[in-house]
Amino acid sequence: MTYNINEKGYYGEFGGAYIPEMLYPNIEELRQNYLKITAEESFQEEFHQLLKDYVGRPSPLYLAKRLSEKYNTKIYLKREDLNHTGAHKVNNTIGQILLAQRLGKTRIIAETGAGQHGVATATVCALMGIECVVYMGEIDIARQAPNVARMKMLGAKVVPALSGSRTLKDATNEAMRDWINNPVDTHYIVGSVVGPHPYPDMVARFQAVVSEEIKKQLIEKEGTENPDYLIACVGGGSNAAGTYYHYLDNTDVNIIAVEAAGKGIDTGESAATSVLGKEGIIHGSKTLLMQTGDGQITEPYSISAGLDYPGVGPMHANLYKTGRAEFISITDDEAMTAGLELSQLEGIIPAIETSHALAVFEHKTFKPEDVIVLNLSGRGDKDLQNYIDYFKL
Ligand SMILES: *Cc1c(COP(=O)(O)O)cnc(C)c1O
Repeated sequence: MTYNINEKGYYGEFGGAYIPEMLYPNIEELRQNYLKITAEESFQEEFHQLLKDYVGRPSPLYLAKRLSEKYNTKIYLKREDLNHTGAHKVNNTIGQILLAQRLGKTRIIAETGAGQHGVATATVCALMGIECVVYMGEIDIARQAPNVARMKMLGAKVVPALSGSRTLKDATNEAMRDWINNPVDTHYIVGSVVGPHPYPDMVARFQAVVSEEIKKQLIEKEGTENPDYLIACVGGGSNAAGTYYHYLDNTDVNIIAVEAAGKGIDTGESAATSVLGKEGIIHGSKTLLMQTGDGQITEPYSISAGLDYPGVGPMHANLYKTGRAEFISITDDEAMTAGLELSQLEGIIPAIETSHALAVFEHKTFKPEDVIVLNLSGRGDKDLQNYIDYFKL
């Protein structure tokens, strides 16, 4: 019994590759090559060198003393916020650009909602001198002007998606269309543990550096590699997948996944997929997703742009279904309060996505002797205006 992926590309009943015929050659090329290429010594060397010298890894594991005192337990923060570009997303884009180079690709495409994945992709394309096209919904382009400017400054072309609701899912459709038309020279960098196999597994493996480091750092600090709890927020699920990866099958370690409840589970303005979702297929993967009675995907809502995805990755759907992970939903208000609290207790302004994970301490009581590792997935600079408006700072 494993909570990791099987040879067919499934986590339990979730995952697989449900794709249009025309996308088959692209996905098949990846599937046949990703494990072989990423296992090569030269790949691993370059990947780890860049993570060290360019991203700034290993990210510290910081014992948050005042936060721990307040909740009478022992809380470590895995500082992904200190990475270059301010979050965990760059771990994945570095991995995928190295893979794309080895597959002989000369052009990169990506989709982005809030713009964070677009920036992480434009960053590694600049680093490697590779052409970069980012698809983004027209509405999102208007809402996320600073990230659009960053992508342009980094040399990427930002193409507006003008169809449908003009948000993330339409941008994803445009990127898919581009890829179908450019199968030979183009690689599509997906931004989370979502999409058809092998994307969820590939992205999880690139993010797994997070739990690899946690193990080493906990041995140094606690004399054991096992915490009692791991906590991470889940949008698509990539920072969570990286946090859990090397602990998935070690059931001595409890796993907590935090979703965005938005204005509340029952308000119709939510992104709590595990509670509200049903099995279905989204972006080529069988997973849990929020949908209407007749199977239309529901538009999700969260104050945090990085968490308002209508599905979750198949790994997380399986962790939910099997009960391996405890899922907790946190409202906008609870998250904002937790973000302000961390700022004032520890001098760290977290991304609003991460603030959802931090709100767990108001929801659940831990024992004084518990050792908890929470993935501080990103920094709050990008969210400052949101915090200002919310708290009238
Ligand atoms: C994008 C983002 C997330 C959500 O994405 P996952 O794939 O679920 O990790 C969480 N935190 C931050 C800081 C992000 O930028």
